[in-house]
Amino acid sequence: MKYKRILLKLSGEALAGENQTGIDAQRLEQYAQEIEKVVQEGIEVAIVIGGGNIFRGVETVGTGIDRVQGDYMGMLATVINGMALQSSLESHGLFTRLMSGIKMEQVCEPFIKRRAVRHLEKGRVVIFGAGIGSPYFTTDSAASLRAIEIEADVVLKGTKVDGVYTADPETDLNATRFSNISFEEVYSKGLNVMDMTAFTLCKENGLPIIVFDMNTPGNLLKVVKGEEVGTLISV
Ligand code: UDP
Repeated sequence: MKYKRILLKLSGEALAGENQTGIDAQRLEQYAQEIEKVVQEGIEVAIVIGGGNIFRGVETVGTGIDRVQGDYMGMLATVINGMALQSSLESHGLFTRLMSGIKMEQVCEPFIKRRAVRHLEKGRVVIFGAGIGSPYFTTDSAASLRAIEIEADVVLKGTKVDGVYTADPETDLNATRFSNISFEEVYSKGLNVMDMTAFTLCKENGLPIIVFDMNTPGNLLKVVKGEEVGTLISV
């Protein structure tokens, strides 16, 4: 295995499956199966899941809900997704902990770095909910930050696209995929990998990112083994 401790970032939107919103049971089960495969190999797995399938702070424009309130709503949405994923993983017999950036003792533990690391060492899948616990950030930023805090070897950004392309592959047929690219090149070419806050955090801390297609069964394990799947962004 190339990586021992991973931070997997899943978007909330992906959890909606073919639907626009909500949680798709089939997709949830598929993700649990993928995660189980890597846990069985002894990999320490931490997960940050988004909330876009339920709510995003930016969506408050024109609704009478202010941005900060909306961002907290978005953070709560990530906890809902985290709870769903936790249950699904537990139904596979995995041990899990959900840790939140906002205190909510009845449903999850508060995020404490040392405790998170201890859970991982004991083989528990740790899901980080509520982003970093502050408005005006995204779960991509939470993924970068938590990955650095727990000293993960890599951030794995599981998406529906199989890597970083020269242009948007959904609109440009000539777009080609990078298998490797440096942080600098991503900046200079103006490519969209993560939001800039999240991306810069990884760059400044030398934390590699792999963007890969999470919806292809077996891909997560391949990435962890170091097989050439997706795009590796490194220094
Ligand atoms: N959010 C936030 N601070 C954080 C993480 C998330 O305010 O640290 C809010 C923000 O409104 C965001 C929403 O939670 O839009 C859901 O997260 P995100 O959009 O990153 O989810 P994804 O796009 O991955 O589904």
